[in-house]
Amino acid sequence: MSDNSLNEPTRSGRDLIDPFGRHVDYLRVSVTDRCDFRCAYCMSEDMSFLPKAEVLSLEELERLCRTFINLGVRKLRITGGEPLVRRNVMWLFQQLGRNLDTGALDELTVTTNGSQLSRYATELYAAGVRRINVSLDTLNRDKFLAITRWGKFDRVMAGIDAAQEAGLAVKLNAVAMRNFNEDELDQMLTWCGERGMDMTLIEAMPLGDIGLNRADQHLSLAEVRQNLEQHWTLQPSDHQTGGPANYVTVAETGRRLGFITPLSHNFCESCNRVRLTCTGTLFMCLGQDDAADLRAQLRASADDGLLAQAIQNAIARKPKGHDFIIDRDTADPAVTRHMSVTGG
Ligand code: SAM
Ligand code: SF4
Repeated sequence: MSDNSLNEPTRSGRDLIDPFGRHVDYLRVSVTDRCDFRCAYCMSEDMSFLPKAEVLSLEELERLCRTFINLGVRKLRITGGEPLVRRNVMWLFQQLGRNLDTGALDELTVTTNGSQLSRYATELYAAGVRRINVSLDTLNRDKFLAITRWGKFDRVMAGIDAAQEAGLAVKLNAVAMRNFNEDELDQMLTWCGERGMDMTLIEAMPLGDIGLNRADQHLSLAEVRQNLEQHWTLQPSDHQTGGPANYVTVAETGRRLGFITPLSHNFCESCNRVRLTCTGTLFMCLGQDDAADLRAQLRASADDGLLAQAIQNAIARKPKGHDFIIDRDTADPAVTRHMSVTGG
C-alpha cells in the first residue's frame, strides 16, 4: 500500500483508529459462551461449551475493558451467550459502571434473552445501565418454546416488565425468519408500540453449524419492510448508533424500527466496533475469522501498557468488511464460530 500511515497503529496513543480511518469506540464483550436457551438459529441442541479454565475471570474482563476505555472506547455492551447467567456478573457491571461516573464511558448496555431480568433489572439500573436489548422472536408461547427450545416464555415476559419498572429502556431484537415469525411482525410492532419499546429486526446470519439448512429460514428484510409498509407508515429516521441498523420511525406508534441486514445490505463502511470473547480473543469483524489473542498478553504481564499495545496492533488489522452468502449451494457457515461466541 502506498500510504504507510494507513497501516500503522494509531499514533495519538489514546484513540483506536483502524486502517480505513474508522474510529473504534464501541466494544462488545461476551462474558460467557453458555446460555440457558438453545435458540435454533444460534446454537445446536448439543452444544459443547468452553472449559472454565479457558474463560477469563471477571477481574480479567474488567482489566481488559478498562484498558479499552483508556484507549478511547466510549460504549460497552455486555453480551454472551447469556451474560446474566454468569455467576457474579453484577460485580462486573458495578465496576464498569464506575467509568460512567467519571465520564470515561458514555454508555454501558447489555443484550440479554430476558430470562434473568426479574432478578437483575434493579441492580443493572443501579450500576448505571439505562438501555438494554432483549431478544425475543415471537409473542406466541408455543413458537417461543420451539425456537428457544429451553426458554421459559413467562419468565421473559416478567423480565421485560421488571426492566421497564426499574426504569430501563428496552429495545426488542427479533430475528426475522421465514415460516416462523414473518406473519407476526405486525403484531410485534403493535405490542412494542403499546409498551413504548423500539424494535430491531435482524436477518439470520450464517454463523456456526446449527444442524439445519439456513436457507430454509432466511427471510430478506427488504421483503419484510415492503410487507410492513402496507400497514405502517415508515418514515426515514436520521437516528444513528454507529451500528449496523438502519432506522425508521413508525408514525403510528412514534417508536423506532431498525433493520439489521448483513446479507442484503452491507453495513461495514461505518463499523465502529470490535468484539471480545470470554476467552480474551478480539475479533475485529463479526464476519471474518482473523482475531487477536489478548489473553496471552493479559496473563503474561501486569503491565497495562503492553496490553494496550496489543490492542492497538489488533485494531491496525481490522478488515474493511465481510460478505455473507446464504443460498442452497453454500450450506456451510460463513464463519465457523457461533453467534454465542462473539455475542452478536
Ligand atoms: N443471549 C443474549 C440474547 O439472546 O440476547 C445475547 C447473545 S445473542 C448471541 C445476541 C443476539 O444475536 C440475539 O439478538 C440473537 O437473536 C442474535 N443471533 C444469534 N444467532 C444469530 C444468527 N445466526 N443470526 C442473526 N442473529 C443471531
Ligand atoms: Fe442463547 Fe442468545 Fe443464542 Fe438464544 S440467541 S441461544 S438466548 S445466546
